[in-house]
Amino acid sequence: MAKAVQVPPTALAATLTGPYSEPYEFLQQQVSPPGEKEALVSLSFSGVCHGDVYSRDGGGPAPPAPHRPLIGGHEGVGTIVALGANAANSCSFRIGDLVGIAWRTSVCGKCEPCLSGRENHCGEQVITGLHASGTYQQYITFPVDQLIPIPDGIDLPQACCVLCAGVTAFSSLRLMDPQPGTWCVIAGAAGGLGHLAIQYAKCFGLRVLAIDGGGADKEAFCRDMGADTYVDFIKEGVRLVEKVRSATVGGAHSVLVLSPHQGSYDLLYPKWKYTRVLNLNGFPLRPILKKALLVRSNQTGTKNDIREALKLTVSGQVKCKVEVMGLEALNEALDRLRAGKVLGKLVVNLR
Ligand SMILES: [Zn+2]
Ligand SMILES: [Zn+2]
Repeated sequence: MAKAVQVPPTALAATLTGPYSEPYEFLQQQVSPPGEKEALVSLSFSGVCHGDVYSRDGGGPAPPAPHRPLIGGHEGVGTIVALGANAANSCSFRIGDLVGIAWRTSVCGKCEPCLSGRENHCGEQVITGLHASGTYQQYITFPVDQLIPIPDGIDLPQACCVLCAGVTAFSSLRLMDPQPGTWCVIAGAAGGLGHLAIQYAKCFGLRVLAIDGGGADKEAFCRDMGADTYVDFIKEGVRLVEKVRSATVGGAHSVLVLSPHQGSYDLLYPKWKYTRVLNLNGFPLRPILKKALLVRSNQTGTKNDIREALKLTVSGQVKCKVEVMGLEALNEALDRLRAGKVLGKLVVNLR
């Protein structure tokens, strides 16, 4: 029987209380007991994702009117310290288990995506840290059916990075039916998703052309992650398309766009061969369809995708480049993400 855990009455939580663009405040919030089907989780670390920039500053998937007060964050890892009465009897989790909290707080369980095992496309999903309280806090109550088991032996900040950034890259690459030896262009390759996408692509046997720009250190970083070649989109300017076409011997077989900027799509469309796969993770794109391209969009990944991506971290095949900071540095972390000044991932320590 697990030992009862002392839970404080209040704990630190980064909280948004004002309109979009106002910074986080760091407040003591009441720690609530778990509801019937919930767990109370003592969080250790949370990744900082570009999605969190939107919940603070608006834009992207954020609603026109901000949901406030709001605690952001959707890449949390921690330990279960209490279970609701119903959860204790019906779920496989126990007090003391290490769990992850990711993008979805709940899904409907009844729609076509949910019933076909693609719950990441449920139209009724409640998004953690955007529609409901997220992981920038020391304690969170969370539905047990959306908790992710975290395997033993994994570095906790590394595990955080898989929960949104990693699984989004992993799932998107897999949806493109990667054929070993073919070229894959990854746009936004030095970022949180991109540097993991390079490593997953190498696990799938792909040849990787990494695109990023705006910092001399980005090329070395992408090559260090396993990229076969690198193109700086700022340095190349109007020569970018020709550069990529020649480096990939006529165009890439698959293109993974991980950048949230429209310009990435505008610049990229001439780079494919005829009939190839494009996977989108950012914004809608303008007309590009001259080559019978198969265009796929994807939002994060399923719980099963997360489990599989975590295995690649446990085995050491995929390593996240992590910079750990205190929770009080969260506003600065989001500012750096917004400005594109992060190599790899930022993670906040909640202990
Ligand atoms: Zn995210
Ligand atoms: Zn659904």
